[in-house]
Amino acid sequence: MAAEIRVFPCLTDNFGYLVHDSESGATASIDAPEAGPIINALEREGWTLTDILITHHHGDHVGGVAELKQRYGCRVMAPHDKTTRIANVDQRVANADVVKVGNLLARVLETPGHTLDHISYVFDNDKAVFAADTLFSIGCGRVFEGTYPMMWDSLLKLRALPDDFRLYCGHEYTASNIKFALTVESDNPALKARAEEVAQLRAENKPTIPVLLGEEKKANVFLRADGPTVAAKLHMKGAKPADVFGELRERKNKS
Ligand code: ZN
Ligand code: FE
Repeated sequence: MAAEIRVFPCLTDNFGYLVHDSESGATASIDAPEAGPIINALEREGWTLTDILITHHHGDHVGGVAELKQRYGCRVMAPHDKTTRIANVDQRVANADVVKVGNLLARVLETPGHTLDHISYVFDNDKAVFAADTLFSIGCGRVFEGTYPMMWDSLLKLRALPDDFRLYCGHEYTASNIKFALTVESDNPALKARAEEVAQLRAENKPTIPVLLGEEKKANVFLRADGPTVAAKLHMKGAKPADVFGELRERKNKS
């Protein structure tokens, strides 16, 4: 039986996610931006929280952990990097560790760059990846703690996942990401198609997530930094992909 996944807004532009195993009744929250919307989503479904899977130490991803843990006595998994202080953690996880949510399996993929402790959770059997602030739809996270080569390497790890996997990211930034991407690749047909789709979804007040990874690979300019067209647009023909990526990220920072 496949995982049941629920998507709902938290804080200003964060996503809340519940992953439910109907066989065992286990339910995980991916990150915990704030407790209220997560409790509401659980009550709407009649589910009990058993696990919280944290991706990185930023406040907008851990703000609800203490309250949820107190209320449900759930298990809290977090990145192994202890230099970043995340409170209320039961288990630290590192690359290739497999976390069980009932009978569901989540594989840990270290994806540093946005922060040094950032990890993503890959539910291989369910074809779902929770990439938080590493990979957004048509964008990527800001590189706060790592380097551009480190972040580029993390994006490559996510890009290596199969096309039929669904991407669940940390923020609803898709529309603004598209605005920027069009300044670089206004002639990318996959990007133009995504722009139309996103305009429609936002007009209906619907989330733009999840999205198929195969479509992101075609439309997301940050995942295309090693292709000839993007380098040419930036007048960086022959440059290292990590440098092209860095230039893109800096332009986005200024946009
Ligand atoms: Zn963050
Ligand atoms: Fe965030």
